[in-house]
Amino acid sequence: TTFDSLGLSEPILRAINDAGYSAPTPIQANAIPLVLSGGDLLAGAQTGTGKTAGFTLPILHLLSKKPRAEAAASRPRCLMLSPTRELAAQIEESVKTYGKHLPLTSTVIFGGVNANPQIARLKKPLDILVATPGRLLDHANQKNVDLSGIEILVLDEADRMLDMGFIRDIKKILAILPKQRQNLLFSATFSEEIKALADGLLHNPGFVEV
Ligand code: AMP
Repeated sequence: TTFDSLGLSEPILRAINDAGYSAPTPIQANAIPLVLSGGDLLAGAQTGTGKTAGFTLPILHLLSKKPRAEAAASRPRCLMLSPTRELAAQIEESVKTYGKHLPLTSTVIFGGVNANPQIARLKKPLDILVATPGRLLDHANQKNVDLSGIEILVLDEADRMLDMGFIRDIKKILAILPKQRQNLLFSATFSEEIKALADGLLHNPGFVEV
């Protein structure tokens, strides 16, 4: 498989080329067409498999094909949840790297730091919000962020989020998202708890495992 054959737009292919990637990894070759088709996805993948580009590349494509309404500029359209601040920051770096030739905006929100710069950023135009669950929920409860425009949700390293005790926060976040949306769940392991979360979240998901 080549990146050219996956259906990604030219600005994204250019960013992939800039990054020096010559071919998609197995998870990318399988996940990218599924995500581009608009369906839900259940993916079993460890770090190091290229999973971040596996969800980021097709999401950038989908969002760039459907420009946001100016009136709703500060409402993010995609939410990516991650267990740790390091991972969240890494994901947002990837969003910026792969989206560098696109007019899309992103930011990352995590706990343990002053909330005020985050509040200021959340007032400005935003397409993709990467966040850890606890701090995101704080911002949502304080009406610092409007999640009513979320069209695509990613739960990355869902097993680690459950291990870290984020299930209650995740459920509260899910409850305030629009019902109509595309859902992607990535996990390295599949416990009964993950299966229950996936069952409640995903509708006829495509399945990818590497
Ligand atoms: P991840 O599993 O998403 O944490 O990605 C692991 C590493 O693989 C990152 O440093 C990426 O920059 C790199 N990577 C992702 N996709 C590719 C690819 N198709 N070819 C070469 N390197 C890649």
